[in-house]
Amino acid sequence: MTLKVLSVASEAAPLVKTGGLADVVGALPAALAAQRVEVTTLIPGYPSVLAKLGKTKAVHKWDALPGGPARLLAGKLGEARLLVLDAPALFAREGGPYADASGRDWDDNWRRFAAVARAAADIAGGAVKGRSFDLVHAHDWQAGLVPAYLRLAPLAGGRSVPSVITIHNMAFQGYFPGEIFPALGLPPSAWTVDGVESYGGVGFLKAGMQLADAITTVSPTYAGEIRSVEFGMGLEGLVLARSSRVHGILNGIDTKEWNPATDPHLAACFTAGKLAARAKNKRAIEAEFGLERDDGPLFIVVSRLTWQKGMDVFAEVLDHLVGIGGRLALLGSGDAEIEQRFHAAAARHPGRIGVRIGYDEALSHRLQGGGDAILIPSRFEPCGLTQLYGLAYGCVPVVSRTGGLADTVIDANPAALAAGVATGFQINAVNAGALAMGVSRTVALYHQTAAWKRLQTNGMKADFSWGASGAAYAALYRQLIEEQE
Ligand code: ADP
Repeated sequence: MTLKVLSVASEAAPLVKTGGLADVVGALPAALAAQRVEVTTLIPGYPSVLAKLGKTKAVHKWDALPGGPARLLAGKLGEARLLVLDAPALFAREGGPYADASGRDWDDNWRRFAAVARAAADIAGGAVKGRSFDLVHAHDWQAGLVPAYLRLAPLAGGRSVPSVITIHNMAFQGYFPGEIFPALGLPPSAWTVDGVESYGGVGFLKAGMQLADAITTVSPTYAGEIRSVEFGMGLEGLVLARSSRVHGILNGIDTKEWNPATDPHLAACFTAGKLAARAKNKRAIEAEFGLERDDGPLFIVVSRLTWQKGMDVFAEVLDHLVGIGGRLALLGSGDAEIEQRFHAAAARHPGRIGVRIGYDEALSHRLQGGGDAILIPSRFEPCGLTQLYGLAYGCVPVVSRTGGLADTVIDANPAALAAGVATGFQINAVNAGALAMGVSRTVALYHQTAAWKRLQTNGMKADFSWGASGAAYAALYRQLIEEQE
C-alpha cells in the first residue's frame, strides 16, 4: 500500500534554503517515493517562494488561523507535491524566513509557525477535500506544534494520524514566554509539562518531542549525544524519558544535485576514475579567490561562520595552515566578529587565503569540485551535509569527531590506511592544538600522492544516497501506523 505523508517544514530546497534542513526536506519526497511513500510538503508562503512557484491552485481557506486569514495553495516541489500556506499578515515581508534583513528574529515567529502547525494538523485531519494523509512528519521547532495540535486540539470529527518529529538541530528550540499560550488555540490542559510547557515558557521543539509518536534525529551518534547535558541543551531529560522512541537516521544527499560527473556548476566534470580533471576546477578557484598557484593543498570552507561550526577556533590556526604550505578559500557568513577574523587573516596572507562572505549555492559546488580538503571543525553537528558533498566530490573532509561527522568520515589512521578504507581526517577536540594537528596531518598525507588519491576515491565510491535512510523512514512510518490501527 502506498502511504501518504505530509512533511511540514519552514524551508525546502530549491524554493527556500538557509541550511541543511532545506536540503533534507527537499530530498525526502524522491527518497521516499522509492519506498512507496508519497510525500506532500507544506511550507510557508514567503514572498520568494510565491514568486518561484509558477502555477498554483487555491485548495482551502482559513478565516482565523493564528495571525488571521490564510489560503492553501497547491503546487510542485520539483516532481513532488507541495502545499504552501499563503498567510500575508505572517509571511509577506522582506528578509529571511526567520529574521528581518538586519538579522533580527521576527517578534511574532511563534505566531507564524503556530499558524503553519495549526494548518498542518487541520490538513492531516481531513479539512481539505480530496486530500488525506496517513502520517505527519514535522521538522524542527518550526513544526513542533503539529503533534500538539494533532493530539491535544484535533479537528472536530477529524482523523487522528500519527506523527514523527525530526530534530535537525537541538540548538534551535523555539522557546517563547508563557504569555503566548492563550493565543495558540490549545486547550488549557495543554499547559503542563506533559504538553507544551517547558521551563515556564512554551517550547515548540519540546512540545513536538513530547507529543510525537516518534522522535528522529539525523545521525546515530547525535541521537546518543543528545542524551547528555552538553548536547541536549535542556531537553536531555525528555530524550532520556522517551529513549525507546528516539531513532538516529542519517541524512542522505541528493545525488542528482550533487554529482561531479554531471554538475553544471563545474568548469570540468569528473569521476573517481578521472580525477585529473579536477585540476581545472582548482585553477578556477585560485583565479576566483586571487590565490597563488602551487603544489600544496587547497583547503576550503563552506559554512555558517558560527560558534557551533568551530569557526572561531579555526580562525586561530590560519597562520599555521599557511605556514605549512596550505591555502584556503572560504565561503560563508555568520557572526560579524568571526567574519572579521577571516578578513584579517586574508589581509595578512594575500595570495594564500581568500574569503567570500555571503551565500552562494553555485560557488559552494565549485569549491567542492576543486578544493583538496574541506574543513568542518564543528563543536556539534547533528548530521552535516558538507562533508558528504566533499566525499562525493573527492574533496577530502577534515572533521571534528562528533555527531554525523563521526558517523560518515573514516579517519586516516594507520589501521584504516593499511586496510585501504580511510576517507578523511577526524579531529578529536575542538581546540587550536587539535585543529592544527588535523591540518598538519592533512598536508602531510596530501604529499603522498597515491595514499591521497585512495582517500579521494574511497569517499567518491561510498554510498551516501538516500537508499538506506529512505527505507528506515518508511519502516518507521509503517510501524507507527500499524501501532495506531
Ligand atoms: P547547517 O544546516 O547546520 O548549516 P549542514 O552541513 O547540514 O549545516 O548544511 C549546510 C548546507 O548549506 C549545505 O548544503 C551547504 O553547502 C550550504 N551552505 C552553507 N553555507 C553556505 C554558503 N555560504 N553558501 C552556499 N551554501 C552554503
